[in-house]
Amino acid sequence: MYWMDMTEQEIADTVGAFGVPKFRAAQVRDWLKKGVRPEDMTNLPKNLREQLSSVPFGGARIFDKRISEKDGTVKYLFELEDGNLVEGVLMRYSYGNTVCLSTQVGCNMGCKFCASTLEGCVRSLRPGEMLSFLAEIERDEPPTDRERTVTNIVLMGSGEPLDNYDNVVTFLKRVTSPSGPNISARNISLSTCGLVPKIYSFIDDAPHVTLSISLHAHSNEVRSSIMPVNKAYPIEQVLEAANTYAQRTGRRVVFEYALIGGVNDSEADAKALAQRLKGMLCHVNLIPLNPVKERGLNGVTRQHAYRFQGWLEENRISATVRREMGADIEGACGQLRRRVLNEMRG
Ligand code: SAH
Repeated sequence: MYWMDMTEQEIADTVGAFGVPKFRAAQVRDWLKKGVRPEDMTNLPKNLREQLSSVPFGGARIFDKRISEKDGTVKYLFELEDGNLVEGVLMRYSYGNTVCLSTQVGCNMGCKFCASTLEGCVRSLRPGEMLSFLAEIERDEPPTDRERTVTNIVLMGSGEPLDNYDNVVTFLKRVTSPSGPNISARNISLSTCGLVPKIYSFIDDAPHVTLSISLHAHSNEVRSSIMPVNKAYPIEQVLEAANTYAQRTGRRVVFEYALIGGVNDSEADAKALAQRLKGMLCHVNLIPLNPVKERGLNGVTRQHAYRFQGWLEENRISATVRREMGADIEGACGQLRRRVLNEMRG
């Protein structure tokens, strides 16, 4: 058991086992909420701090950080206690700050355009590690005009969140808890490549969290060629699950659609996509593909993305082109981690 993963009761029991007065547990709990390690819990006696340090902390440290000169986006590389590295991004918008968090070190889904999955999934992240990313960012970028720096979370970093289901749901419960970071579930989005049975569980377990689905194609032929997961859960099943989410929650599903030059970006593709989505409470988020060196797929210009948006809108599908954040700092999934790992390997 790790400090950062413990519930309040588990903290009380663990601290209590060291034979100290009860109020110490509340002090430890308050520090852990801020992601502080036992050695830095300054209002505890030194020998207690040492005793508490015998239990592993289970959090992250900032290993590297890049700040975009263009838009102030901050890309973090976190180091976990086992030495693994994982990315997170802080993006500044007019309505607040969004943090993009990873849910796994690497990924097993094998999408052909993505850098995160090139070497498979090393391991899934624990809830306390994901909470620790937030705490580290809050400490690194203290809020100026509001209570917290982070107002919104998107689980769109490396990893497939629904492939780490229990940990992610526990994280969502804790991060939305009034006694924790207290971030509104409505300000949180989870993105999945389409693990259909888990989407149904997610509707039951976290109905207030926004569901994003990486669609990227309108046909099984193209989707299977770029997303192996489509062979297990074809597009019809993904759309049925998406529709169930929309019906049950009354909220729109967001479909992510990475525009890949010559693969899924023609006017005919837009029409066929609109046909598929007709009548569904949904929104399409268009992302010009960020070409990954190892992948050999092409992006499209922003101008072309706006044209594609127009084609969807002509067919009454609501769509936007995602703002490009941190293009100068390897904002795309898995790219910074890969480069640092390659540098370290020499
Ligand atoms: N595994 C989840 C979470 C990743 S979210 C999922 O698949 O949804 C990251 C989003 O960025 C996904 O929509 C993913 O398909 C997309 N993406 C990955 N690599 C990309 C690239 N090189 N350019 C543009 N989008 C990319």
